[in-house]
Amino acid sequence: MNHKVGKNMRNFEGTLDFAKKLDLADELKEFKDRFYIQENTIYMDGNSCGLCSKDAEKYVLKALEDWKKYGIDLWSEKDANYFLYQDTLGTIMAPLINADSDEVTVCASTTMNIHSAIATFYHPTKEKNKIIMDDINFPSDKYAVYSQIKIHGYDPDECLKVVKSRDGKYINEDDMIEAMTDDVCLVLLPSVLYRSSQLVDMQKISEAAHEKGIYVGFDLCHSIGSVPHDFKKINPDFAVWCNYKYLNGGPGAIAGLYINKKHFKMQPGLAGWQGNNKETQFDLNQKYDHAEYAGGWLTGTQPILSMAPIEGSLKIFEEAGIDRIREKSLNLTSYLMYLIDTKLAKYSFSYDNPTDDSIRGGHVALVHEDAIRITKAMKENKIIPDFRFPNIIRLAPIALYNSFEDVYEMVERIIKIMEDKEYEKYENSRGIVA
Ligand SMILES: *Cc1c(COP(=O)(O)O)cnc(C)c1O
Repeated sequence: MNHKVGKNMRNFEGTLDFAKKLDLADELKEFKDRFYIQENTIYMDGNSCGLCSKDAEKYVLKALEDWKKYGIDLWSEKDANYFLYQDTLGTIMAPLINADSDEVTVCASTTMNIHSAIATFYHPTKEKNKIIMDDINFPSDKYAVYSQIKIHGYDPDECLKVVKSRDGKYINEDDMIEAMTDDVCLVLLPSVLYRSSQLVDMQKISEAAHEKGIYVGFDLCHSIGSVPHDFKKINPDFAVWCNYKYLNGGPGAIAGLYINKKHFKMQPGLAGWQGNNKETQFDLNQKYDHAEYAGGWLTGTQPILSMAPIEGSLKIFEEAGIDRIREKSLNLTSYLMYLIDTKLAKYSFSYDNPTDDSIRGGHVALVHEDAIRITKAMKENKIIPDFRFPNIIRLAPIALYNSFEDVYEMVERIIKIMEDKEYEKYENSRGIVA
């Protein structure tokens, strides 16, 4: 598949007036005022750390007040009721992926939830013990799976079946399906690739896997809150995601977990008392009594102060609607690609992400051989991008808090950086983060 084929053409123009016109017609423009945005700063890194909203702040402050007021009773006090907080959050989160509310919960981190899911769904036998993964996803997922295979007493170098990308950028779904041989028992893939922004055809992979009796899980880190998913159709066995990227839940926010309801009776691979049946949890029996819903995969006491901002943030998503968010996001990234084509290409910029709306996630992968130095100059000019070694500058114009004028203004600042050769004063080396 050629990912550069199939532009969904829109009639853009390269003037500031035109950007303002797009903003005027934008149904979501009011949401920007709900976020904390530093003056004159163009924030394009909401795919790594989403910005803080006033709504998120409100719920953190409420949780603090409840702690002050109630102490231990905050778990059960009627207007606090944090004991079942994950169920509340799961319920407002579920529509983002069209799942049932009891199939979605929040707990741990993305990486820990991969551990938990693999520990639950990986039952290797001598004949069937391989896990399919790709070779271009964010590596934490692989570290987790690798160590899980080892814990299960198998050789990860043998049992981790890595299907190579043909071009180092995109996943080919047919290659994945071809790799589903009789010795494979599980597939774990990302929904959107963190570098190239490719939106993977999850339904196709899920259907093929299930036909062969293979469990399938997806990592939604780079799509949740930006791309709507229909889990009634995709029907995966499990999914994980973080809430601090597009979902603006705060740095290191508690993560998301989806367990398909057909597996509610399965025993969690990593059990703990918070996953116990709520009716008997405080009987404190020595024998674990599994709660038969996604909340049954909880382990220890939940970090309430890290959950609270998500409630505020999710209410914004509820109001804005994920379909409208997706529509604006696609318009923003299309507009950015148009400006790269017409204004930045002459400075040797290109982009390496799908142009077709149906397979593009929420960011544009701007490419330049001087990307490190240009990133530094962008930060100096109050643009916050996201550098990925060696030559990619990820730019995520966020539907809830970026305007078309932001995109226009960013490109103007980049032109100035290139014209004045501002980037030449920086060293060609990267820092510890990114
Ligand atoms: C962001 C991201 C992670 C991060 O995992 P944490 O456990 O939250 O640190 C893992 N996998 C993918 C694919 C990601 O995009």
